[in-house]
Amino acid sequence: MRHILRSQQFDRPFLDKLFQRAGEHRQRFAKPRRRRSPIYSLQGRILVNLFWEPSTRTRLSFALAGLHIGMKVETTENAEEFSSTVKGGSLEDEIHVVSSYHPDVIVIRHKSEGAAERAAAVSQVPIINAGDGAGEHPTQALTDLCTVLWEKGYLDGLRVAIGGDLAKGRTVHSLVRSLVNCCEDPKFAFVSPPSLHLKEDTKAYLRERGVCFSETESMREALPSADVVYWTRVQLERYPVEERQQYEDLTRQYAIGIKELELMRDDAVLMHPLPRNEEVSPDVDADPRAAYFRQAEYGMYVRMALLEWVLEE
Ligand code: ASP
Repeated sequence: MRHILRSQQFDRPFLDKLFQRAGEHRQRFAKPRRRRSPIYSLQGRILVNLFWEPSTRTRLSFALAGLHIGMKVETTENAEEFSSTVKGGSLEDEIHVVSSYHPDVIVIRHKSEGAAERAAAVSQVPIINAGDGAGEHPTQALTDLCTVLWEKGYLDGLRVAIGGDLAKGRTVHSLVRSLVNCCEDPKFAFVSPPSLHLKEDTKAYLRERGVCFSETESMREALPSADVVYWTRVQLERYPVEERQQYEDLTRQYAIGIKELELMRDDAVLMHPLPRNEEVSPDVDADPRAAYFRQAEYGMYVRMALLEWVLEE
C-alpha cells in the first residue's frame, strides 16, 4: 500500500514523475472548458476525507482533485465534532471501521503528531497525511516544491529564507526535509524571534546531513540573497490561550509589506502555505513575485497526480 505519511519518504525521481504528471493536469485546465477533455483515470474510485482540524485548501483541493479525475468523494470536515471520536472512540477504531467500508484512499488531518502513522497501522487502504498537529504536512511540501519548480524553473542550489512560526509550523518541517532529501545543496536562513525558532528535531535533521543553515531575527539579513522566501503564520491554535496575544504581537515584527519586498531579489519567489494573518500584507499581492495564490492552485494539480500515483495498479 502506498501511504503518504512523512516528507522523508520522497526522493527526486518520485518528484520528477509526480510534477510531470501534475504539469499535464495544469495544462488541461489552461484550456477553455469546452476544449478540455475529461480525465477518468480514477473513475469510480472512492476518496474519504477525514478532517479533525480546520482546512480549506487541503480538504477542498483533495476533494476537487479526486472529482476532476472521476473519483467519488465523501468528507467529514469537522470530525472533532461530527465523528464518533466525540463519544470517546479512538482514532484507530475510526480508521479501522472507515477503511472496512472499502474506500480506495483515506486523507486524514488530525491534531496529534504521528496520527497518520497510527492510522496507517490499522488501515486496509492507503492513508494520506493531510497534516498531523505540529508534525508534518507532506502533501503541502510537494505543492511547495512543485511551485518552486514552476516559478523558478529549477530545484537545486536554492537559497531559501523561511520565516514565521518555525517551532510549530508543520509545513516548514516538511518543506525543509523534502528540500534536503530531494534537492542538491539547499541553503537555509530561518527568520523568527527566538521563541519561534525551528523545532529541534528539524535542526538535528539538518545537522546530521551537514546542511548549511543560519537563524536570524533580521529580515534585512535573510531576504536579499534568497531565491525562495517562504513565510508562515504563527500557529496560534497550538499555544495556550493566555500566550496567544504575545505571539500575535510577534506577527507584526516579521510582516512582509512593500518595504520588505524591496529587499528581495527581482527573481525571488514569495510563497506562503496560507491562510495568512498579518505576516504578509495584501499590498504585496499584485507583485509578480507573490506566488501564494498560484501555489494554492498548483496544490490541486499535485494532488491529482498524487492520487493517481497512490492508486496506480
Ligand atoms: N494550511 C497550513 C497547514 O495546515 C498552514 C497553516 O495552517 O498555517 O499547516
